[in-house]
Amino acid sequence: MARGKKQIRISRLFKRFAAMFLILGAGLLVFGILQVRNLAGMQAITEDYLAGQEAISSMRDASDFLTEKSRSFTVSGNTESARDFFKEVNDTKRREKALKTIDEIATGKEETKLAEQLADAASESNRLAEIETYAMRLAAEGHGTDREFIDEFFSDVVLSEEDLALSAAEQVEKAREMVFDERYEKLKTSILDNVAKSTEKLTEKTKSRQADSYQTTAKYTRFEYLLTVIILGVIFAMMIMNSLLVVSPIRRGTDYIKNNEKLPIDGAQEYAYLAEAYNSMLEKTEKQTRDLSYEATHDAVTGIYNRKMFEIRREELSGRDTALLLIDIDLFKGVNDKHGHQMGDLVLKTVAGILQTCFRAEDYVCRIGGDEFAVLMVSMKPELEHVVRDKIAQLQSKLVEEDSIPEVTLSIGVAYSQEGDPEKDIFRKADQALYKAKENGRNGFVFYNELS
Ligand code: GH3
Ligand code: MG
Repeated sequence: MARGKKQIRISRLFKRFAAMFLILGAGLLVFGILQVRNLAGMQAITEDYLAGQEAISSMRDASDFLTEKSRSFTVSGNTESARDFFKEVNDTKRREKALKTIDEIATGKEETKLAEQLADAASESNRLAEIETYAMRLAAEGHGTDREFIDEFFSDVVLSEEDLALSAAEQVEKAREMVFDERYEKLKTSILDNVAKSTEKLTEKTKSRQADSYQTTAKYTRFEYLLTVIILGVIFAMMIMNSLLVVSPIRRGTDYIKNNEKLPIDGAQEYAYLAEAYNSMLEKTEKQTRDLSYEATHDAVTGIYNRKMFEIRREELSGRDTALLLIDIDLFKGVNDKHGHQMGDLVLKTVAGILQTCFRAEDYVCRIGGDEFAVLMVSMKPELEHVVRDKIAQLQSKLVEEDSIPEVTLSIGVAYSQEGDPEKDIFRKADQALYKAKENGRNGFVFYNELS
């Protein structure tokens, strides 16, 4: 199967498209998974920020709480305040918990600074707590607090000789000063400062983590856009290829098939293969049909029209101006007997050939029996009888001239059909005339009109 240009195999092409889809789809899936993970990371950033904020404010609240309770006890001697103070220091431990939370959040470089800042705040707070504890112990002395209470909470605080020597009022006054003086305020301010700085660091850290995360999201999204555009491109290319190589050729091919024409060899290789197979089938069928119709209407020995074709034409010409000549070879049996069947066939062929040369192309020359021929002369009227006579004379002289076959003669019966003639059976008439010609001794012709 020779083809002009290289044709594309659509099945192979679509396989490649499928492989591309698979790869691109897998890419999209991977980026989708990465996006979800990144989203989870963003959520973690928010959670860390909230936990950090809570830890920082918890640190500040705890420090403020200790200040408030120590001052309250120092000034009023109210043991409830001292109990609250020690409960915070020994049980609630909000500051330690805050530090632990910040340590958990802090992993990177920036985060370490955040942890350090809050650790500074915590250690300052511890120093302050020591001052507060001493002040409270001194105040307890001054306020004459229950000894049992002092032993329970201040067992490890030892007052200096100097402070012990002070009067009760002086002790209370000194204790009050310790938790209200400049040094205390300075430490307190420093704690708050560090807490504020922690907040700043936490905000910075969160912002930078968010920025990183946003950039990652943007990067993944760009890849997803790119993959989506490529996938759309592949789909578009597939549609175009399908339309150009399959759908259009099939649509065009339908018209050719309707018109019983050969298909053009184009489109995809698979389609071209089918088109070529169809074309060769069409060619074969057409040839078979031609052969069959030729065989059905032509005589195998002489190649002229056969009896069937004669009947068809006679039917068509019925009721129209026509002359029918029935021609029979005289004593043909004898030719066969004397010269053999092969020579008999040659005689039949020769007579057929002469008949064809003597009559017009529009007339029908047929072999209707063993040695019997018929000629239908179209548009022939009885007034033109001389034409028929001329033809018969021409025929006989040509036959005489023929030296490749033994000498044979013909008997001919002629009849006419005319427009408006009620008698349609021209064959019967010509046959009667032929019979008469034979009766007259052969080698002659009889016109049916002349029969009495
Ligand atoms: P008549 O003058 O009365 O027509 O005598 P005839 O011998 O021609 O008699 P008839 O027309 O009845 O004989 C026809 C002969 O033609 C009989 C047959 O053997 C011969 N024939 C028929 N078909 C063929 C054929 O295809 N080839 C050959 N060689 N002979 C054929
Ligand atoms: Mg005969």
